[in-house]
Amino acid sequence: MRIGLYPGTFDPITLGHIDIIRRGCALVDRLVIGVAINRDKGPLFDLDERVAMIKMQARRLNAETGTEIVVHPFENLLIDCARDVGASIILRGLRAVADFEYEYQMVGMNRQLDASIETVFLMAEAQHQAIASKLVKEICRLSGDVSKFVTPEVEAALKNRLHVEAR
Ligand code: ADP
Repeated sequence: MRIGLYPGTFDPITLGHIDIIRRGCALVDRLVIGVAINRDKGPLFDLDERVAMIKMQARRLNAETGTEIVVHPFENLLIDCARDVGASIILRGLRAVADFEYEYQMVGMNRQLDASIETVFLMAEAQHQAIASKLVKEICRLSGDVSKFVTPEVEAALKNRLHVEAR
């Protein structure tokens, strides 16, 4: 049984993330979506909210792909999280060259921590490649249309949260 771990902050989950999850499902028997607590990043949505939004998408993707999808919050070292869930591969998405440098370094260090866990990089469909949670939040905050970047449920949550915060 091949288990893959797809870690991230998912603040909030976007169509870019969903694209990568769908591709990841084709590669593994069980996909664990690792949700980093990431207090340092000062997330807009707390962990429970991010997990709930991911679970909603995970149910759909499971029905569509047949691959088991598990949502797993974690606060420890990525490589320890991979060991905890029995993952032999870590999945990451690559967008621009800017992602590459950071990811390159992460792979180099993670490999020294555990050489048996391989990192696999995936790229989203062209129209999903530029999507970043950070920019989606900024666009929504400025009342822009984010419907091409997130699901309707996430769009509603964003509008609700940003509206509430603006008051
Ligand atoms: P992190 O804090 O780990 O960067 P993110 O939630 O921003 O968390 O991203 C999680 C993973 O998803 C990362 O590997 C990131 O590169 C990837 N990703 C996010 N958006 C996209 C996208 N539009 N296309 C491809 N990969 C993406």
